[in-house]
Amino acid sequence: MTAYPHLFEPLDLGFTTLKNRVMMGSMHTGLEDRMWHFGELAEYFAERARGGVALMVTGGFSPNRAGDLMPFGSKMMSSWQVPFHKKVTNAVHEADGKILLQLLHAGRYGYTPFNVGPSPIQAPINPFKPRELSTKQIYKTIEHYAKAAKLAQKGGYDGVEIMGSEGYFITQMLNARTNKRTDEWGGSYENRMRFPVEVVKAVRQAVGSDFIVMFRLSMLDLVEEGSTHEEIIQLAKALEAAGVTIFNTGIGWHEARIPTIVTSVPRGAFVEATAKVKAEVSIPVVASNRINMPDTAEEILASGKADMISMARPMLADSEWVNKAAAGRADEINTCIACNQACLDHTFAGKRSSCLVNPRACNETKLRYEPVSKAKKIAIVGAGPAGLSCAVVAAERGHKVTLFEGRSEIGGQFNYASKIPGKEEFKETIRYFNTMISKLGIELKLNTTVTAKELEEGGFDDVVVATGVAPRVPKIEGIDHPKVVTYQELLSKELKLGQSVAIMGAGGIGFDVGEYLAHEGVSTTLDTAAWMKEWGVDLNSDNRGGLTSADMEPSHRKLYLLQRKTSSFGKGLNKTTGWVHRAVLKMKKVEMIGGCSYDKIDDEGLHITVTKGEQSEQRVLPVDNVVICAGQVSVNELFEQLKDSQQVTAHLIGGAELAGELDAKRAIKQASELAAGL
Ligand code: FAD
Ligand code: NAP
Ligand code: SF4
Repeated sequence: MTAYPHLFEPLDLGFTTLKNRVMMGSMHTGLEDRMWHFGELAEYFAERARGGVALMVTGGFSPNRAGDLMPFGSKMMSSWQVPFHKKVTNAVHEADGKILLQLLHAGRYGYTPFNVGPSPIQAPINPFKPRELSTKQIYKTIEHYAKAAKLAQKGGYDGVEIMGSEGYFITQMLNARTNKRTDEWGGSYENRMRFPVEVVKAVRQAVGSDFIVMFRLSMLDLVEEGSTHEEIIQLAKALEAAGVTIFNTGIGWHEARIPTIVTSVPRGAFVEATAKVKAEVSIPVVASNRINMPDTAEEILASGKADMISMARPMLADSEWVNKAAAGRADEINTCIACNQACLDHTFAGKRSSCLVNPRACNETKLRYEPVSKAKKIAIVGAGPAGLSCAVVAAERGHKVTLFEGRSEIGGQFNYASKIPGKEEFKETIRYFNTMISKLGIELKLNTTVTAKELEEGGFDDVVVATGVAPRVPKIEGIDHPKVVTYQELLSKELKLGQSVAIMGAGGIGFDVGEYLAHEGVSTTLDTAAWMKEWGVDLNSDNRGGLTSADMEPSHRKLYLLQRKTSSFGKGLNKTTGWVHRAVLKMKKVEMIGGCSYDKIDDEGLHITVTKGEQSEQRVLPVDNVVICAGQVSVNELFEQLKDSQQVTAHLIGGAELAGELDAKRAIKQASELAAGL
C-alpha cells in the first residue's frame, strides 16, 4: 500500500490513460535549440520516464519564426524536424512514459529585434520593442499553431501543450495591458479571448480527437490590467468547448514583480487559484508551482483541488523522484531547493540548464556514475555540500568511504543557509545526505578533526579534502570589539543582537543576514496567508491580475547594509532571484550605504567614510552590533600537508580549493565530477 494513494492513481483521459498523477512541466534546457543535441535530449527525457513520470512536456517550440524566444530558438515548422523528434518520443515510449510538445509563441518576450506583439508595446523585461501583427498575420499564426501540432503528432508526441500563460503571446492577446487593437482581435474581452479559442479549435481539428491538447492557462496574472476571476473562468469554459483535454496552471507573467517559484515562496502557494478553475470545468486540471515533495502533492490531490501535479525543477533534481515515492523511499529524494541557480539562471544566461543538487541533469550522457570494478578505500574530510556529494557518488559507485566532520552535524555552510527565513528548503539537502550516508553504509565520523598523519596511516587510497571556508575578518581598528560577530557566529549560535545593526558586506550572505535580522526569525514562507499579504496577492482574482497592495512590515530593528563598491546593491546576486532579495530589503527599509571605507569600531558604533564622486563624508553609525559578511577564505591546511604524500593521493575540492565566487553549485559539481572518476 503506497503512502500516496492519490498520487499513484491512474488518470483516464478517455482515449488514453496516464499511469499516475505526476507530470514533468516544461523547462527550456538549451538542448532543444539544436537538432544535434536531440540524442542528449532523448536521454534526458528517457531517464525521467524510467524514473516513473507519467507525462512530460518539452521546452517551448515556436510555431513560427516570429514567435522565437531568442534568435534561432527552437521551432516546430517543417517536416525535416520530425525524425529528430522521433528520437525523443521513441526513447520516452520505450521507457513507458508519455510526452507532449509545448507550443510557445513568445510574442513581445522574444529576445530578438524581430519580435512581434498584438500591439507595439515593449515588455519591461525586454530591450526589443515588438512589431504589431497585422490582422492577416494573426489568422496565419493560428494556422501555424495547427501545422506545428500536426508535425508534433507525426513526430510521435502524445499531444501538445499550448502555452497560454506567463505573459507570452497568448496572454498578450488576451489582456488589455498588451492588446490595444481595434480589429476583431482587440477591444472587448470576447474579442481578445478569440485568439486562444481559435488556436485550440484549429489544433484540435488538425490532430483529431485522440491526441492530448493541454492548455497552460494563466490562473493568476499578477500584473496590472491582468484578468479577473470571471474572465479566467469564461476563457476556461470556452477553451474546454473548443477541444482542450486538460488544463495546466500558469502563475504570473515573467514581468510580474511578485515571486512565483523562488525558494521563499511557500510550498503549493498558488493551489487555491487552480482549485477555483477546477470547480468550474469538467476536464482535469493540473496544479503547479513550488510543489516539490510527495506529501505536498498528495495533500493537494486528496483535497480535490487538482487532478494532477506538475513538477518541473524537482525532476531535474531527482530523476527517480516518482519511483522513490512509489517505493516508500521519499526520504531518499534529492529535493529541489528552488534556488534557480543551475536551471533558470542558466537559461537566462543562454547556458545549458542543469541542477545545483544534481549536476547530472541535462548532462546524462556525459557525467556518468558507473559502478567500479575494484573498490578503493577513500577518506573524505569535511561534510559540507562538496564532501557530502563526493562521498555519496563515490559510495554509490561501490567505493568504501569514510567521511570525517569536525562538527557535530553534517551540512557545512548549508546549516547556516537553512536558518535564513525563506531558505528552509536547504534543510532538505541535509536530510537527503543523512539518508544516503546510512543507506550507502558510508562511515561517518562526526566531531572528528583528523590529522594528515592519521590519514596517511589509515590505509586509504585517496583522501579528498573538502574542508570548506571560514569567514574573512578584515583588518579594521576595533574588529575585536565585543559588538562584532561574524555571520557564522550569528547563525550557528543564533545570537540575539541589539536594536541597531550594521552588516559589513553586501554579497549573497550579507543580503541573507539582512533578511534574517529583518524578519526577527519569523518566516512567512511557512505561512501562505501571511506571505500573500506581504506581497499583495489576491488568490481570488477579485482584483484585476490578482493584485492587492503589498504589506510588508518594515524591520523592527534599524539595519544598515554596507559595501565598499559604489555600484548598485545586489548586482552580483543571481539573475532570477536577486531582484526578490533586493525588493525584500527595500520593503524592510534597510538602509544601504555604498562607497564606504570602514575606519574603526568602538563603543560609539561603526565609523565609516562614505565617498560619492569627489565628496567624502565621515559618519558614525550608532550600532549595537556589527555583523561581518565580508567574503570567505579557504580552509586548506590539511591539503598542504598531504599534497606530496607518498601513501595517499590527495584531492582538494569546494571552498577549500577556491573561496572566491564559491557557491554550492560549483562545490557540488566539482565534487561529483571528481567522484565519477575516482
Ligand atoms: P563548507 O560548507 O564550508 O563545508 C566544509 C565542512 O568541512 C564543514 O562542515 C566544516 O566543519 C568541515 N571541516 C573543516 N575543516 C575540517 C577538518 N579539519 N576536519 C573535519 N572537518 C572539517 N550557496 C549557494 O549556492 N546558494 C545559496 O543560496 C547559498 N546561501 C548561503 C547562505 C548562507 C547564510 C551561507 C553561509 C552560505 C550560503 N551559500 C549558498 C554558500 C554555500 O553554503 C557554500 O558555497 C558551500 O557550503 C561550500 O561547500 P563546501 O563543502 O566547499 O564547504
Ligand atoms: P561575496 O558575494 O563575494 O560578497 C562578499 C562581500 O564582502 C562583498 O559585498 C564585498 O563587497 C565585501 N568584502 C570583500 N572583501 C572585503 C574586505 N576585505 N573588507 C570588507 N568587505 C569586504 O561573498 P559572500 O556574501 O560571502 O557569499 C559567498 C558565496 O555564497 C557567494 O559566492 C554566493 O554565490 C554564495 N551565496 C549565494 C546566495 C544566493 O542566494 N544564491 C546566498 C548566499 C551566499 P565590497 O568589496 O564592495 O565591500
Ligand atoms: Fe531546483 Fe536549484 Fe536544481 Fe533548479 S538548480 S532544479 S531550483 S535545486
